[in-house]
Amino acid sequence: MEPLSDYRAKLEEWLAKRPPTVVAACRPEPRYDERVETMRGLMAELYELGFSRAGWPVDVGGLGGTVEYRAAMWEALARHGVQGMALFEHLEVLIPAFVALGPRDLVARLLPEYLSGRELWAQGFSEPDSGSDLPSLRTKAVLDGDHYVIDGSKIWTSWAKYATWCLLLARTGDAESRHRGLTAFVVDLRAPGVEVRAIEQSNGTDELAEVHFDGVRVPVDRIVGEAGGGWAVAMHILSNERGTFAWFRHLFQYGQLADGATRATERDDRAFGNALLDMVSATAAGLDGIAVHATGATLGPRATFNKLLLCAAEQSVHDAVLATDPDIAIGFLDPAAEMRRQEYLFSRIVTVYGGSQQMQLDTIAKQMLELP
Ligand SMILES: Cc1cc2nc3c(=O)[nH]c(=O)nc-3n(C[C@H](O)[C@H](O)[C@H](O)COP(=O)(O)OP(=O)(O)OC[C@H]3O[C@@H](n4cnc5c(N)ncnc54)[C@H](O)[C@@H]3O)c2cc1C
Repeated sequence: MEPLSDYRAKLEEWLAKRPPTVVAACRPEPRYDERVETMRGLMAELYELGFSRAGWPVDVGGLGGTVEYRAAMWEALARHGVQGMALFEHLEVLIPAFVALGPRDLVARLLPEYLSGRELWAQGFSEPDSGSDLPSLRTKAVLDGDHYVIDGSKIWTSWAKYATWCLLLARTGDAESRHRGLTAFVVDLRAPGVEVRAIEQSNGTDELAEVHFDGVRVPVDRIVGEAGGGWAVAMHILSNERGTFAWFRHLFQYGQLADGATRATERDDRAFGNALLDMVSATAAGLDGIAVHATGATLGPRATFNKLLLCAAEQSVHDAVLATDPDIAIGFLDPAAEMRRQEYLFSRIVTVYGGSQQMQLDTIAKQMLELP
């Protein structure tokens, strides 16, 4: 792989020409179906030009290099006005664990499909009665010859409506086995017995879904990590979701803060100043996370700090923006204002996904400070 500085320069040169796929992804688009198609177009071109293959291993379709190349790509896209990662967020949540722990031939087949925008992913962990207490999950996977048969229901599954593949956590041990009896599977959401029902959110989008599995057959070679080793896969994913992904997400918050600042008056100085400080703290923690992940290690419980800083930053950015646009609660015909409304409402739930804020504080207390 070329040096990072050369990669950045090549990317900048391409972005400076304002390619139509980039221009389209910079346009505020509150309708998810449209946003998905636009992002697919951008990802296809980034793949074709090799930019999105940087930072992934060569033997599975990448060009080599570390997560720093991926960070550089999304940083440049954010700086040039692209609105967000949308359903390509799982490239930095699920896929690092899939690449590190998944069967090599399956990774080599599926990674290029995602990087090029053809086949998208979802994460099937939470269930109606198992959110914070994930080890209590009840979706079952029972071995039957060379397949597992999956029965159960997942909820709050982001992007399931658009996804082809789901990284699913299911119980292969007995009911009392808690986290020791879980296995991670790659499940085809087009398989017979899968039903996806979108959930409409308060901000009007349908990112989330319920996913029901009724006798779904999954070949044994679709296990990520070890059979019974699903918890290690989940912890790898959470290190990304709370650690480095927090950094990827907040890149786009700077654009929202800068946009809000164009409408701000002197009265808003304090709110914007505080939001900027929160963003800088989240950036500093995020950069540290990228450096750790670039060595091949995971952040472990430390990732909780990054997520908590992201929550504080994202909420203070949108509180500051709200003060410049007090009608945000009612909805707009103007797509840019409608996006601000969606983003404000979404910022209220950042403290829930990837583990609630209370659970993150609990992790710091128990695992880092060793409090009783
Ligand atoms: C936008 C969004 C996207 C999401 N995407 C996905 C996804 O793609 N895939 C997926 O699997 N899940 C996803 N989730 C689900 C998310 O992981 C869960 O909502 C989260 O883990 C909390 O679980 P719960 O909703 O069941 O709440 P509960 O676990 O019922 O918690 C309810 C409240 O009780 C508190 N609480 C619970 N237990 C304790 C405790 N022991 N100590 C102190 N407080 C406690 C919690 O902090 C929370 O405030 C998403 C959620 C959101 C909001």
